[in-house]
Amino acid sequence: MVDWRLYEPLINFARKRSMWIVAFCTGCGGIEMPPLMTSRYDLERFGMMPNPAPRMADLFLITGYVTPKTLKRIIITYEMQPDPKYVLAHGSCPLNGGIYWDAYNAIKHLDKYIPVDVAIAGCMPRPEAVMDGIKKMMELIETGKADGWKRYKENYEYYKKNQDELFGEGWRERTARRWIPWLMNKKKEIGGGKQ
Ligand code: SF4
Repeated sequence: MVDWRLYEPLINFARKRSMWIVAFCTGCGGIEMPPLMTSRYDLERFGMMPNPAPRMADLFLITGYVTPKTLKRIIITYEMQPDPKYVLAHGSCPLNGGIYWDAYNAIKHLDKYIPVDVAIAGCMPRPEAVMDGIKKMMELIETGKADGWKRYKENYEYYKKNQDELFGEGWRERTARRWIPWLMNKKKEIGGGKQ
């Protein structure tokens, strides 16, 4: 019987060097992504790249303020990602509301709804600060301390309670039901196109 724990350091090294990012810029900090990805900072040299499918991405960058409407998508996207998955929050807004601290529709504590592994202070954090955050994340992954995905499972009741308090129980089903008419129309459109 193979004891996979022996291979953990090697697996963690590979994980930190091949992170795929959820391509979903949630706030104004997303504007720092082009310089990060292009020749100036060239994030790809770390084996990182944006991925259009959350089901194949392990790093979720929350790039700024979060509203209840965005939070629903963030939670659903986060839950779609496979384990292990990591969350890096950009700037003050996801942590304490930032300049929107007294706005009725800004989420003040993202970590009440999903776990945050690394947070970067600043408004808005410069690409250098984001690079620092990414290096910190790599360090945590390599040492096995980027464990937000485990905390989400272990404390799911806590996160779910906070989510339900904000959106009301059964919000996932209600959100899904709203998509059904749209999907049915799309199906008809596609079917119609073939005829
Ligand atoms: S911290 Fe500043 S840059 Fe980031 S989302 Fe908030 S207002 Fe925008």
